[in-house]
Amino acid sequence: MAIPDRLPTVNRLARMGIGVEDKCRSCGTKAETRSHIFFGCSFSKAVWEVITRLCNVDRMVGCWDEELNWAISRFKGKTLFVSIFRIAWCASVYCIWEERNHRQFKGISRDVDSVVSGIKEIVRLKSTRFVIKK
Ligand SMILES: [Zn+2]
Repeated sequence: MAIPDRLPTVNRLARMGIGVEDKCRSCGTKAETRSHIFFGCSFSKAVWEVITRLCNVDRMVGCWDEELNWAISRFKGKTLFVSIFRIAWCASVYCIWEERNHRQFKGISRDVDSVVSGIKEIVRLKSTRFVIKK
């Protein structure tokens, strides 16, 4: 859903004529587009900063297309690092979207550390399965 830009962001809903406040649910300053939610928002940037540091990847986060292309170019191969980084990247996108939905529909907001903990838990669970399969 995220890759083909089919997520129901408020910016996308507004383009379809559905009247909703189009500001980001995390920072409240920019229009909520896919690129902003996942990479442009100060909240998601803080999450990516921790995740890339934990993965020992030196990367300044850019826009959606730039980051997706960069990730695809790095996800080639079947090394343990690539496998774990792929899981971390996908888990980060999932958890950032989950956090957006918590803020949108439940009125609950977690801090960066809580979201990162969720990402780390997904990576831990998926990595355990990966290692066991080998
Ligand atoms: Zn924002």
